[in-house]
Amino acid sequence: MSIISTDIQKAISLLENEKLVAIPTETVYGLAGNIFSEKAIKKIFSTKKRPFFNPLIVHIPSIDALENVVSYVPEKAKILASAFWPGSLTLVLKKKSSIPDLITAGKDTVAVRIPNHPLTLELLRRLPFPLAAPSANPFNNISPTKAFHVEQYFKNDIQLILDGGTCKNGIESTIIGFENEEPVVYRLGALSIENIEKVIGKVTIKNHKLQNPDAPGMLQKHYSPKTLLILTSDIKKEIKKFQGKKIGILSFTNSYKNDRIFHEIILSKYANLNEAATNLYTSLHELDTFQLDVIIAEKLPEMGLGISVNDRLQRATFQE
Ligand code: AMP
Ligand code: MG
Repeated sequence: MSIISTDIQKAISLLENEKLVAIPTETVYGLAGNIFSEKAIKKIFSTKKRPFFNPLIVHIPSIDALENVVSYVPEKAKILASAFWPGSLTLVLKKKSSIPDLITAGKDTVAVRIPNHPLTLELLRRLPFPLAAPSANPFNNISPTKAFHVEQYFKNDIQLILDGGTCKNGIESTIIGFENEEPVVYRLGALSIENIEKVIGKVTIKNHKLQNPDAPGMLQKHYSPKTLLILTSDIKKEIKKFQGKKIGILSFTNSYKNDRIFHEIILSKYANLNEAATNLYTSLHELDTFQLDVIIAEKLPEMGLGISVNDRLQRATFQE
């Protein structure tokens, strides 16, 4: 029997019994557990093979629930929360002492957001505790954007994947912390910098730290397909370099298809950056199924969500 279903009641009883449930969000699927259950939280780390220094995002149903998780909310965090929640923005704030160290990797801050997915919002409203939910993929693998991606990863490890369809935004949330009350972007993501700056003005971006990352999404090597991935602005030149090889193409909007290309995916026929972001991981999952020698990916224009997609593709070029 498939573990993919829309049975919220079953999700509630599993979570209340300290088990894990995969949940849909508008960014990517999450692997969720009760933040106050040490057993559930340890299971999240072991299932994902995620190192304990990588803290988890706490998911809450409403802005009112924020006070159960954090002890202080800077003025600009309030503005951001009311502008973008529910949505693809994670805020890193001073934690309440009741939030377990396992969730925050021992930090005195906690990452929190309200996801924008009807099924998961209903689940969160009906539970008496928030959910910790990192992306439902093994550490360093591509994040899941469809229920069957999670099933391929974890069918032997979990009992239920709540089916919420394909994730609308398709890449992880944008993470913002605060240093001296001022917003700092720790991870580029599904909410563009342009949209954030329209609401609170200029923000600092600290997206590249190699050691002891403030945000795990900042690790250089991350989000990788199994296949070698090359990122380029000149697809034709790279195709020539890999003559005789089994080539896959991930292009932004143009087609490069010829006899030498085994499989090509176009992220957005009409050059829409939001659509390209939505399709990114789904396309990488698909390209990874063909046993290609190489995936040649095209750099997107450095604006809007193109910046977030280029960030993920750049990290995907790192090999084990
Ligand atoms: P994932 O849910 O798999 O996308 O990963 C969780 C993300 O939350 C990581 O990239 C972390 O950077 C971020 N995160 C969680 N807690 C904190 C925290 N206290 N400070 C900074 N970043 C955090
Ligand atoms: Mg992740």
